[in-house]
Amino acid sequence: MIYLDNAATTKTAPEVVEAMLPYFGEAYGNPSAIYSLGSAGKKAVNEARRAIASVINARQEEIYFTAGGTEADNWALKAAAESYREKGRHIITTKLEHHAVLHTCRYLEKKGYEVTYLDVDADGLVDVDVLKAAIRPDTILISVMFANNEIGTIEPVGEIGAIARERGILFHTDAVQAFGQVPVDVEELNVDMLSASAHKVNGPKGVGMLYIRTGLKLRSFIHGGAQERNRRAGTENVPGIVGFGAAAARAMRLMEDKGKKERELRDYLIQNIEKQVPYCRLNGHRERRLPGNVNFSFRFIEGESLLIMLDMKGICASSGSACTSGSLDPSHVLLAIGLKHEEAHGSLRMTLSEENTKEELDEVVEALKAIVSRLREMSPLYEDFVKSQKTGK
Ligand code: PLP
Repeated sequence: MIYLDNAATTKTAPEVVEAMLPYFGEAYGNPSAIYSLGSAGKKAVNEARRAIASVINARQEEIYFTAGGTEADNWALKAAAESYREKGRHIITTKLEHHAVLHTCRYLEKKGYEVTYLDVDADGLVDVDVLKAAIRPDTILISVMFANNEIGTIEPVGEIGAIARERGILFHTDAVQAFGQVPVDVEELNVDMLSASAHKVNGPKGVGMLYIRTGLKLRSFIHGGAQERNRRAGTENVPGIVGFGAAAARAMRLMEDKGKKERELRDYLIQNIEKQVPYCRLNGHRERRLPGNVNFSFRFIEGESLLIMLDMKGICASSGSACTSGSLDPSHVLLAIGLKHEEAHGSLRMTLSEENTKEELDEVVEALKAIVSRLREMSPLYEDFVKSQKTGK
């Protein structure tokens, strides 16, 4: 099997599994308990908090554990909207956010908030001047993702943070794809809230966090006990949190080396596809791009058929985000960067890890060449195109 779907999820690292195991077994105490079996769990949770905070240059007490990136995004947006309602009801976001943000914005619109969805350019970048122009006296929140999960484009988060700070507007960034992959510094970038998720950095699924800057008044998301400093009730997912901590520490340790390897593999794959597969287009920014992200549109074919045929050769990839694959709607991200419906349908996302090899990628390119040409042979659109090329019409 060749696994090229690391933006959907990553393999849990063996050292992460090992760190988690005691908390499924002998160290089962409730972290809220007074006796030492409980306090061992509490200590482990706080150690994980420290490791995660250091990835983004935050303070330990600014990290609040959640059940994943989706919950963190929901919390940030809904709580900011409600907590700052007296100040205004306008929110700014972009058209290429993950559904965890977009669908939450739709929900808030139904609750009486107004949302501006910013256009992005052909590479998926937000124009900061357009963002500035969208700010109104009643704008309470800007939410722009750190890096896009489909096309890998890295947004100008520092510039946006500076604008938000200057205007006294809250700034949230969904950093689920960037956390532990590229340097993120909430102080330098003026970020007020940041979402991350463990399973994108070789940690377990179903655990994530929201960073909330000290002093920010944000209502609790889940009501109940006093866990997470009264802001997110419920007995902690101790094994999951410990796994997230171990994954964060591992990601920090490996970030430079891993990033370098992935960039090299990414550029190798991009070059070879561009050289060997005709009528393709790279989606996303060529340089401001996540280390492992490759996203192409192939004209005249269906991404779904491509995925199935790649799967038959043991290659795992994706045609959109993990949550939208399975749906036949074209990706909202690809439409936002200006692709036509049929171009968006013929897209393929391959997200690499440092464990992939050039030999694997050679195999992938060979498979792609064969599959793309086979699918084009069956395409009436391609037939028309070839005829028109011949006749010059
Ligand atoms: N935000 C982005 C950018 C993502 O890529 C994802 C997952 O694909 C999420 C949010 C949701 O995270 P989770 O799967 O932890 O709920």
